[in-house]
Amino acid sequence: MAVILDVRNLSKSFGGLVAIDDLSLEVERGTIHAIIGPNGSGKTTFFNLATGLYTPDSGEILFEGERISGLPPHVIAHKGIGRTFQNLLLFGDMTAVDNVMVGLQCRNRYSLVEAILRTGSAVTDQMYKEATKLLDFVRLGGSRDQPSKYLSYGEQRLLEIARALGTNPRLILLDEPAAGMNPQETILLTKTIRRIRDELGVTVVIIEHDMRLVMNLAERVSVLDYGRKVSEGPPEVIKNDPKVIEAYLGVTEE
Ligand code: ADP
Ligand code: MG
Repeated sequence: MAVILDVRNLSKSFGGLVAIDDLSLEVERGTIHAIIGPNGSGKTTFFNLATGLYTPDSGEILFEGERISGLPPHVIAHKGIGRTFQNLLLFGDMTAVDNVMVGLQCRNRYSLVEAILRTGSAVTDQMYKEATKLLDFVRLGGSRDQPSKYLSYGEQRLLEIARALGTNPRLILLDEPAAGMNPQETILLTKTIRRIRDELGVTVVIIEHDMRLVMNLAERVSVLDYGRKVSEGPPEVIKNDPKVIEAYLGVTEE
């Protein structure tokens, strides 16, 4: 199936504010698809709808042909959609490997206590191995036993991605993963995201403000403004679309 995520006429309001306004878009399996748009244009709200944190007012989202909108978050996660959040959500006092094991626990229905205490059972040994593999994948193997709060900002974001991969998703949603990163961290992140797609075969949807990263990484870009899709296409086309420039500058070009 070519389309992994099919968004149809989706709308969501908060009080009088229309955050997502009749949004339709298709994400092709195996692509890196960027969602861009000014602050407040509904990007995070779209992720929240796709992961079950919010229920749409109307419209629907299909994942691999099956309607998922309105299902609870843990059910959607089990079906194969992983995500990271705009703000870091790590357990700072827990080690890197334990943070990843929390993600694995979600997939494998191990108990959280087993995950954290590592009771020495075959199951937790297996989880520890898997978590270590994921840390190696994001090049954090050397920081495995560090409390996550001692990792650099960029490393913490990669750790969050490793944890999201622990649920074994076929689609991963990344909410502004490069925000606050320095140029070097951004380069490493870019490579890692490409490897997630190329080596793990995971489809990636990324919300991102860093246009260079978007141009480098994405095959397709959807542009939101006031909850509506105002433009869509390959990055080199989007870059020169007057509607996109208008959305960002808030003015029409003379
Ligand atoms: P973006 O991620 O593009 O910056 P958001 O999706 O976070 O934008 O927000 C879109 C609009 O919806 C904003 O005006 C925001 O204030 C509003 N919004 C988002 N979530 C809520 C909520 N839970 N309650 C009320 N308003 C919300
Ligand atoms: Mg946001």
